[in-house]
Amino acid sequence: MPAIVAETSAPTLIPDVDDWAILLDVDGTILDLAPTPRDIRVPASLRDTLERIKVRTAGAIALVSGRTLNDLDGIFAPLKLAAIGGHGAEMRPWPDTAPRRSHAQPLDPALRMQLAALATAGSGILFEDKGYSIALHYRLAPEKGAFVREAVAAISRRALQRLELLEGTNVIEVKHLGFSKGTAVRELMAHPPFAGRRPIFIGDDTTDQAAFAVMPQFHGIAISVRRRVTGVDFHFDTPSEVRAWLERIVPADESASA
Ligand SMILES: [Mg+2]
Repeated sequence: MPAIVAETSAPTLIPDVDDWAILLDVDGTILDLAPTPRDIRVPASLRDTLERIKVRTAGAIALVSGRTLNDLDGIFAPLKLAAIGGHGAEMRPWPDTAPRRSHAQPLDPALRMQLAALATAGSGILFEDKGYSIALHYRLAPEKGAFVREAVAAISRRALQRLELLEGTNVIEVKHLGFSKGTAVRELMAHPPFAGRRPIFIGDDTTDQAAFAVMPQFHGIAISVRRRVTGVDFHFDTPSEVRAWLERIVPADESASA
């Protein structure tokens, strides 16, 4: 394997599919962000690339997302991968096993209602109930960002449950304390086919930092997208660069002749 050369530049390494596990955030990392979460599109070539990685790593590729596993399966269908959903609330080490939801508790209905009320019709603020978390998006009205963040913080302070706020790109999310992408990645790495491999995690947002932070425990590599994050090993500027790099790991012709 080539040596790791420069800090926070695009990775030059092409990981050996026998030794590494590929862990990928979804929105803003392998998929371009869309005006609303429902508008997200999966390029057909990406689906093919992920399928090839799945075959050549013996299943050691996982999506690591704030979306639920159900949502991820719908977006990538017919492809099904190992995955972490709900920012770590759900985890399945094999594509066809039932998700483990041991860390997930429902959010209080009163909290949901108060957060939903912030997104009034035509305001450009979008309420998204992800099951294990609630997101308020203001991509369509970025000037309302400060208002949304302050209102969500005030509502969460009054809540009876212990909550965590995750600020992302034009979005703020509310979830329970006690699980994160980092805790779920650690759990995932204890299961075959991930156990014993070195993980590469690629992510673009605040919630991904918990997963970046556990990479050293597994001699893994952390790669950020768009933002240059302190402590990561490499950096991509755009999701299309990530997709091109993934394709280089498993060239289509090699897979065909394998
Ligand atoms: Mg993301």
